[in-house]
Amino acid sequence: MEKANLDWKNLSFGYITTDKRYVANFKDGKWGEGSLTDDPNITLNECAGILQYCQEVFEGLKAYEQEDGSIVTFRPDLNASRMMDSAKRMEMPSFPAERFIEAVEEVVRANAKWVPPYGTGATLYLRPYMFATNPVIGVKPATEYQFRLFGTPVGPYFKNGVKPITICVSDFDRAAPRGTGFIKAGLNYAMSLHANVTAHANGYDENMFLDPATRTYVEETGGANFIFITKDGELVTPKSNSILPSVTRRSLLVVAKDYLGMKVTERPVKFSELKDFAECGICGTAAVICPVGKVVSHDETVCFPSGMEKMGPVTQKLYDLLTGIQYGTVDAPEGWIHKIM
Ligand SMILES: *Cc1c(COP(=O)(O)O)cnc(C)c1O
Repeated sequence: MEKANLDWKNLSFGYITTDKRYVANFKDGKWGEGSLTDDPNITLNECAGILQYCQEVFEGLKAYEQEDGSIVTFRPDLNASRMMDSAKRMEMPSFPAERFIEAVEEVVRANAKWVPPYGTGATLYLRPYMFATNPVIGVKPATEYQFRLFGTPVGPYFKNGVKPITICVSDFDRAAPRGTGFIKAGLNYAMSLHANVTAHANGYDENMFLDPATRTYVEETGGANFIFITKDGELVTPKSNSILPSVTRRSLLVVAKDYLGMKVTERPVKFSELKDFAECGICGTAAVICPVGKVVSHDETVCFPSGMEKMGPVTQKLYDLLTGIQYGTVDAPEGWIHKIM
């Protein structure tokens, strides 16, 4: 396969226009037939629901080239069903899971030359999303929507590779207790930008958000879930109704349990417990796992024993296994690898 002429090893996590994207429209109570288009631009009415009241949900997954040249995606069924859950909470129509998978396949096939070569560390990031298109001025759900899916080649999310990062406890909250924290909607990101910019301006890589009701429990960062490793090798991950159910986190729990024989616990995690953990990482599709070396609050600084130089040993094992599964060098659990070509 002839590949696009890109410097694959030095790609950033940015947008590059690829050849084809998938579009389908919802009108008169049903989804129309979707198709691929060359046009990366969207023309919308000035009063479109997305522009006025932010009715939008999205997903993120990757296409990987494996050693033998095949191109696969990782658990796209979970992205499809999560997008249906997100749409429901936003009073939007569901985009059927089987059509979601078809759209993923069509976009990957049509953009195969943009799927980064095996061994470069880069991947084709896929962004499915859906938004309100018809004019809405009185506050109510729109009646017309567009589903789109494009791909863009990306390098590793964190430029300093897998070096541990320093995060701060945010003075802002991410998601209300009975709000929209558990769905993947752009609105959760819009309101976290100020917290992000503030954290970066203060010299931190990311925010740790606490539960807004009591500010005693750990929730997540703006776009990644936490995992902790205890000193006796147990994996602990926060449980809360306002955390986004990360596909990466759910997969790491299975890998820890079934591949490493670890004890795995999902439970509320108090900020005050952090000092007892041996390792900490944040996980999501973009970065897989990024190790956390230090967490800073107004009152204290927690330094994990794994240090600031490299990933903790257990985190590293989890990272190697999960990326091995994604790139086909480690046997995957049934149904995790969806081969496209
Ligand atoms: C997308 C996202 C994650 C990571 O989920 P993955 O399915 O692993 O990519 C975590 N937190 C938030 C808020 C997210 O939007």
